[in-house]
Amino acid sequence: MDALKRKVIEDGVVIDEAILKVDGFLNHQIDAGLMYEIGEVFHSQFSDQGITKILTIEASGIAPAIMVAHRFNVPCLFAKKAKPNTLNQGYYQTDVHSFTKNKTNSVIVSNEFLSDQDTVLIIDDFLANGEAALGLHRLAQQAGAKTAGIGILVEKSFQPGRARLEEAGLTVSSLCQVASLKGNKVTLLGDDA
Ligand code: 5GP
Repeated sequence: MDALKRKVIEDGVVIDEAILKVDGFLNHQIDAGLMYEIGEVFHSQFSDQGITKILTIEASGIAPAIMVAHRFNVPCLFAKKAKPNTLNQGYYQTDVHSFTKNKTNSVIVSNEFLSDQDTVLIIDDFLANGEAALGLHRLAQQAGAKTAGIGILVEKSFQPGRARLEEAGLTVSSLCQVASLKGNKVTLLGDDA
């Protein structure tokens, strides 16, 4: 997706060889027009899959996921990283190790909002080791829901996330693939480095 690739190249800040900061349009300030376009693209890719819910994880997945959900005209459900005191009924729970924070969170979704009647499209901002997406897929499995696919904005293709998701039998679609962050530079897959 050219608009996203341009933003990543122009606004992305390389923190180190493994981490890219995109606070200018995704993780702090949000480019709403770009999120809208992302909704269109994922809708065109997954519109024939009978999607009933968009599933993401707080906080940074929510902005793109809500626009995808709007386009599909289905709810956006986000997994929470802490159990609120107000959640007293049943819930699904799994552990997710955060790549950027190097911390494991127990993430949860209320069983009120996910069931075996659902087909989910999982959306997240980044794909690194695949922990967040696999965790969301496990939550869907606990509910008996079907995972139609994983939609990622920025895939770091030098990390094993895609391979792990594909090994689990999941379809992965990413809109921008980063080949390398070496030399303080973003190199996209297919670019001449
Ligand atoms: P994974 O779960 O695939 O290992 O990592 C993906 C999650 O970690 C995403 O939800 C994202 O929030 C965060 N993440 C991983 N790598 C990066 C990165 O390079 N930059 C930013 N901003 N977030 C990242």
